[in-house]
Amino acid sequence: MKIGFIGLGIMGSRMAANLQKHGHSLFIFNRTREKAEPLVAQGAKWADSTAALALQVEVIITMLAHPDAVEEAALGENGFLRYPQPGQMWIDCSTVNPSFSRKMAAEAKARSVRFLGAPVTGSKGQAELAKLTFWVGGETNDFETCRPLLECMGNRILHCGGPGMGASVKMVMNQLLGTAMAAFAEGLVLGESLGLSREVLFEALLGGPAVAPFLGLKRERMENGNYEPADFPLRWLQKDLHLAAVSAYETGAAMPLTNAAKELYRLAIRDGRGSQDFAAIYDYLAHTHDVKPTNNGHRDRSDPSKDPRENVYAHDT
Ligand code: NAP
Repeated sequence: MKIGFIGLGIMGSRMAANLQKHGHSLFIFNRTREKAEPLVAQGAKWADSTAALALQVEVIITMLAHPDAVEEAALGENGFLRYPQPGQMWIDCSTVNPSFSRKMAAEAKARSVRFLGAPVTGSKGQAELAKLTFWVGGETNDFETCRPLLECMGNRILHCGGPGMGASVKMVMNQLLGTAMAAFAEGLVLGESLGLSREVLFEALLGGPAVAPFLGLKRERMENGNYEPADFPLRWLQKDLHLAAVSAYETGAAMPLTNAAKELYRLAIRDGRGSQDFAAIYDYLAHTHDVKPTNNGHRDRSDPSKDPRENVYAHDT
């Protein structure tokens, strides 16, 4: 099948490579052309714009950073929906908010282009091994038609409902991912401030009932301060918490924890950590708290004479 793939970042490059391995003809576009070179070397054809790409394919897949990038690719000056091919299929795998996904579904439908929103769970490793989970929103017929394509990139393909419903599941998923990571980071900082070593904390907590299973995969990064290259860049996690908050605003749901976590990640981005893996929120918090545990687990402050309560009591007199 002739497939156009737009967005060749951490996830898109690996997903496109898996389609190529299954013998599909790829036409590719990415804002930064160099990222297309490995796929071109394997036979993919470069298109100079998303419109030029659309004219040559039956299916278009987008895997872009955020709603603005998706809208530009589809409806910008050289956007593919400006040259609609009736009956063509567009699968948007980017993480976007449900109302945006429904808006894109409507824009596609108005041009007789079929649309599925199909965001994914799984990171760089799962993308590489074609073990992603797809959360799909759209018409049942389109879902069944596209299932074999999605199976080239993932091993769990779920139809969640009509347009926007895949994005809805994804919002909940990443809201949990972001708040769980931040809560764990805060717990580690508390434990270390109490004199516990990181090793004891990891052994006590990871794999136990109080923490999310994915946190075990972040241990090596947190132990070694190894946050680059990222599996999932912190700036996109913060974007997802923002999109979850926008979605909640639209429905009237209250998200006090999510909004607090979102601002914590924003502070980390302002600290220069946007391209680091989102597990770096631990490093950000630890530095903010000046936590540097020693080998025997006792807390080592850069200024041992400093009273940790001084800020608390500063305004009491
Ligand atoms: P990434 O490596 O940063 O790739 C982002 C892609 O979007 C690149 O192709 C980038 O082009 C393009 N892009 C960014 N801003 C753009 C703009 N203003 N105009 C046009 N193109 C733009 O990120 P990723 O990890 O692959 O993430 C892609 C999507 O998957 C995001 O929605 C993310 O939330 C989601 N996701 C990621 C993971 C993960 O673990 N990494 C897991 C599940 C879902 P350039 O190459 O030119 O920068």
